[in-house]
Amino acid sequence: MTAMTIAATDFVAGPRLNIDLHAVAANTRVFVARAQGEVMAVVKADGFGHGAIDVARTALANGATRLGVTSLSEATALRAGGLRAPVLSWLNAVDADWASAVRHDVEVAVPSLAHLDAIVNAATGARVHLHLDTGMARDGASPSEWGQLCRAARRAERHGRLRVVGVMGHLGCADVPVDGCNRQARQLFMWGVRSARSAGLRPQHRHLAATAATLTDSDAHHTMSRIGAGLVGIDPSRTVDLEPALSLTAPLVSVRTVPAGARVGYGHAWTTPAPTRLGLLPVGYADGLPRIASGQAEVQVGGQRRPLVGRISMDMVVVDLGDVVVAIGDDAVVLGPGHAGEPTVREWAGWADTLEHEIVTGLGARVRRTTSGAATHRHVRQAL
Ligand SMILES: *Cc1c(COP(=O)(O)O)cnc(C)c1O
Repeated sequence: MTAMTIAATDFVAGPRLNIDLHAVAANTRVFVARAQGEVMAVVKADGFGHGAIDVARTALANGATRLGVTSLSEATALRAGGLRAPVLSWLNAVDADWASAVRHDVEVAVPSLAHLDAIVNAATGARVHLHLDTGMARDGASPSEWGQLCRAARRAERHGRLRVVGVMGHLGCADVPVDGCNRQARQLFMWGVRSARSAGLRPQHRHLAATAATLTDSDAHHTMSRIGAGLVGIDPSRTVDLEPALSLTAPLVSVRTVPAGARVGYGHAWTTPAPTRLGLLPVGYADGLPRIASGQAEVQVGGQRRPLVGRISMDMVVVDLGDVVVAIGDDAVVLGPGHAGEPTVREWAGWADTLEHEIVTGLGARVRRTTSGAATHRHVRQAL
């Protein structure tokens, strides 16, 4: 068995995750054109792994008017990044730093009476969206406590403690538009809005739809769509071709020639059936490549699709190069938009039996990140 390993200093580039903001811009415009109301750019989980500030700026420069995140700390990070558009944070513990929401002009969702009380006590002047559970039994107030929540919020509003500016719900089955669950959720949401109105509230923002329902169910649009996955090229409804924004490359660290019968990686999970060449790439599950994709995943190297062999390790993977012409230091494309035949996020999700969302949010904690296609500063300033 001959090994032709080159010293680590000979590869300087390392793995690299590029985020194409042109793709985010183009995707944003699709949703701005489709949505009947405003588009809120959802940039939670660091903009689905694409960089929250970059995605937020790009979306706002292309027609989104508001931002949405999960936690208050994500919201204040947007403010620290210089973003001044309206921001909504919808998932916080009852003892969250509500005063910081007012200080940073961040709107917050209210999923329970306990949250309402905490906000009233800690954050005079808060702007809130009441969150109704429209059928997922997950987040939001249950229909049985909704009336009480609306009345308590109206009392707080009359006492000048807060303003109810929105009512929100969320769809559990929007990726399957024909599922009757969507109609039930829409009806429940409309009931929730009517109840809020009869409690004396006047929520100007009424929002239920995320990516899938914005593309497939105009009855769910109301005054605003909250778009996350779609901005980064993921369409759970599989009805529209959006533009994926991520490309992950990694250089060949070494190439070795092996005979038939060579056992590769942990557990010797793969044995070479014939003599071949094996390439080593310095990315693994600690970089977000799902280990469960071992034995299925491919990369593109030397212009060709080649299989990853053996188990995906924490820091590295082995590619069966066969007779592809490559040199040490050449980049393999682990994933990309797919325009040149490289594997896509969707394929990786298939190999790992998961969603594209999980792949993109898991990628790249330690790989070098670059962006391309950033909006010009002038353009961004005008939009903000
Ligand atoms: C993540 C999230 C969204 C965005 O959903 P996408 O399908 O990614 O567009 C909208 N609303 C809530 C409450 C969310 O948690």
